[in-house]
Amino acid sequence: MKVMKHGCFMVSKEAKVKGRNAKPLSSSIDFNWMYKAMRKRFGFLDWWPGETTDEIVIGAILTQQTNWKNVEKAIANLKVHGLLSIKAIANADPYILERMVRPSGYYRQKAARLRNFSQYVVGNHGSLRRMLSQDAQSLRKELLGINGIGKETADSIILYASEKPVFVIDAYTIRIVDRVFGIEYKYDKLQAAIENSIERDVKLYKDFHAQFVELGKRYCKKEPVCSSCPLSAKCLYNRHLLSSFDEAQVTIKNYN
Ligand code: SF4
Repeated sequence: MKVMKHGCFMVSKEAKVKGRNAKPLSSSIDFNWMYKAMRKRFGFLDWWPGETTDEIVIGAILTQQTNWKNVEKAIANLKVHGLLSIKAIANADPYILERMVRPSGYYRQKAARLRNFSQYVVGNHGSLRRMLSQDAQSLRKELLGINGIGKETADSIILYASEKPVFVIDAYTIRIVDRVFGIEYKYDKLQAAIENSIERDVKLYKDFHAQFVELGKRYCKKEPVCSSCPLSAKCLYNRHLLSSFDEAQVTIKNYN
């Protein structure tokens, strides 16, 4: 097993299937214990922040490549200037919109994405509510066809704004699962593995995603804080660190 630059394990294909470092097959991974352990530590996390459906969708687009604190500032600006709705953004002056979303970073790109998305919704569906009323599969296909809407943004909109059970995968989720199970998943495979393992429930999907984000921010950072992490007992990365520590102790003893 090789530890990669970012601190994650690189597990050979063989190691995933058999041998001393055998890992569970993706279809057989149980994610329920992870949820229970995180939920026990963090409690129920009431996600996603946003008073209206429009605000949730706008937040999902603004949060690309930035942290939520910056998004909050941009949302506050939009609110003060009466631009916190899809219809208002569709008709907004591009320059003013850029100024409003500036705190969220990549402001020109994000203002253009918001405007393009809003004009698409108004032009093709008349309202956001009508667009979101489609079934999850059709909605996802349509969202992914809109410029600037990737899988994470599309799934966030489906789960949090249209309240349909699609699990949102983000960088935290990929990193945590990689470290805990030693398997590097791509977006679609990880989404399928989690959805196959847990109960199909919107409230659970929302909270589980929030728990991953909380764990990623507090413990499973770039430099992980394993000693107090609620997943440490079963985490492969942590167990590997501990066994390396034991080996190092034995070496020191023998040397002395
Ligand atoms: S024990 Fe927790 S913080 Fe450490 S690598 Fe595992 S999941 Fe991340």
